[in-house]
Amino acid sequence: MTKNNQKEKSQEEKSLRETSLLVGNWKMHGTRAKAMDLALAIKAGVSHPGVIVCPAFAHLEAVGRILADSVVGLGGQDCHHTTDDGPHTGDVSAAMLKDIGAEIVILGHSERRTNHGESDDLIAAKLLAARAARLRPILCVGETKDQREAGEEIAVVTAQIKAAQKFAPFGERDVIAYEPVWAIGTGLVATEEDIRAMHAHIRDLVGPAMPILYGGSVKPNNILDLRKIENVNGALVGGASLDAGAFLALALALAKV
Ligand code: PEP
Repeated sequence: MTKNNQKEKSQEEKSLRETSLLVGNWKMHGTRAKAMDLALAIKAGVSHPGVIVCPAFAHLEAVGRILADSVVGLGGQDCHHTTDDGPHTGDVSAAMLKDIGAEIVILGHSERRTNHGESDDLIAAKLLAARAARLRPILCVGETKDQREAGEEIAVVTAQIKAAQKFAPFGERDVIAYEPVWAIGTGLVATEEDIRAMHAHIRDLVGPAMPILYGGSVKPNNILDLRKIENVNGALVGGASLDAGAFLALALALAKV
């Protein structure tokens, strides 16, 4: 391991121990100018590690330049599943994300699973590609409304987590995000009891070291309750991450854990 890699690793371990992770998923929103304004506002308001934003690919470089001299990290919303360059029109590799300054990548988000038909096998391959590029993968798992109503949530999440390890077991830099699909962008949040039960179950499956984030309509008005739940090690946030005031309130709430 090079000196730089060692430094990167110990900084990550330190930030994991000292604070929760807050990851903003900006999805496919806005202009480059808006993304830059948002990045400037977040940079001005965050002084602790563990806060990361994931702009659209087209805005990554501009946002990365703004955040370069700040504690706020940069991430991608997806990556291709191969490690080599190649003829993959419209795709972005994990190595390209790393090259542009990203430190994490969101994988298996329900919008990718649903809108792009991403399979568990494909997501498992993406995990490998992300690790090979030294990106920290955030694996998203979660059940649909129908699956929850049928009492299948534990079985669904277990299967997604096991499938993600098809090619290799989880590593120490991996992160899981439990995101009930029915809670994403809907204003609905799982009950405290349901989140506690699911995060405890995931903890049993993945061991003591991996951060487990909750995602699904996380807002300033529910973060104080969420952060108290055992095995909730941070949040993956969509809608509220596009509003600097709301995102900074979340960052502050999680910094106090
Ligand atoms: C998400 O898309 O991962 C998400 C959690 O979105 P929202 O916070 O808007 O529910």
